[in-house]
Amino acid sequence: MDQAPQEERLRCPSCLQPMAARVYPKVYNGEETLDVCWSCQGIWFDARESVQLAPAGVVQLFKEIHENTEASRPLGDKLKCTRCAETLVYRQDLTKGGRISYYFCPGEHGRFTPFTQFMIEKGFIRSLNKVEIAALAAKIETIRCSGCGAPVDLRHDTACPFCKAPIAVLDAGAVEKALAGYGAANNAQAQALRNHDTIGEIIKYRTAADEDEDRKGFFAGAGGGGNSGPPEMEDLIAASLSTLFRLLK
Ligand SMILES: [Zn+2]
Ligand SMILES: [Zn+2]
Ligand SMILES: [Zn+2]
Repeated sequence: MDQAPQEERLRCPSCLQPMAARVYPKVYNGEETLDVCWSCQGIWFDARESVQLAPAGVVQLFKEIHENTEASRPLGDKLKCTRCAETLVYRQDLTKGGRISYYFCPGEHGRFTPFTQFMIEKGFIRSLNKVEIAALAAKIETIRCSGCGAPVDLRHDTACPFCKAPIAVLDAGAVEKALAGYGAANNAQAQALRNHDTIGEIIKYRTAADEDEDRKGFFAGAGGGGNSGPPEMEDLIAASLSTLFRLLK
């Protein structure tokens, strides 16, 4: 892989371990190197670093997120700037894709953005409608908010009661469009994505009685404590990322 030697790599603002320096194609042309921590599931952007990844770059990033979710752990209470070690400040912004939260350096060195928030910013997340929420609520009563981690009771809530984030999943249509726009999807993949029933898949796996290997992999991808069986609550964005990328293998 194109990794810089360990001592030259930036350290994660949360776990302080060296981040991976990953190269992705940019819009128009050229490449973008992003510093990512798979364990904390976040990306460090330097102040002037643009976030103009090409669609194929975003899809590549999603794939890598999906492949690296096993060791995920929650963010620390205090995050430190990877450049100056100043405590990062929590902030919310309204973007084209919706409201996102991230942590920025008061010395303006850059920001640390959780993966799910990056996906929202890039328009790869869609909110569920009432019918979909009702279908999920019948099988999965409580989920974990993808924005703040708080429990959300689907029987009563149509958004997170704490941070107001909508109930959302990864948008198969947006992924298909990104792949097609880049000529990266073969016909079978495009067709599978077009017909993909994200909610149906999540319900199917959640209610499967037997815990086969497939299902374990699914829940490992959904976060919440590794391989020790299904967690109490799912993060729907992580779960939908997992169901979607099973199609793209
Ligand atoms: Zn980390
Ligand atoms: Zn700083
Ligand atoms: Zn929340």
